[in-house]
Amino acid sequence: MSGYHQFSCNQHTARKRHRCAWCGQGIEIGEQYMREKSVYDGAHQSHAWHFECLDACHDEAREEGGTCEFTLYSGDRPSAAIGRSESQAGGVA
Ligand SMILES: [Zn+2]
Repeated sequence: MSGYHQFSCNQHTARKRHRCAWCGQGIEIGEQYMREKSVYDGAHQSHAWHFECLDACHDEAREEGGTCEFTLYSGDRPSAAIGRSESQAGGVA
């Protein structure tokens, strides 16, 4: 069993640049993002998420039976949001 406990997950407006915990892409100043605060195996963590990436994580969690275990910055950002102002910065095909 992994000791995961989420304290909160709230919407914020970025006041500085963040990095999405799922896809590793930037969250730009002024963008809305989700801030997740949790404890994982005794370590406090505070992650920023794109909305669509949090959705992707939740989808995966459902498939895995309710837990969302993932490697930081290794996820694929859902394509729905790609192609805005900041297209794939240094994207790998
Ligand atoms: Zn993301």
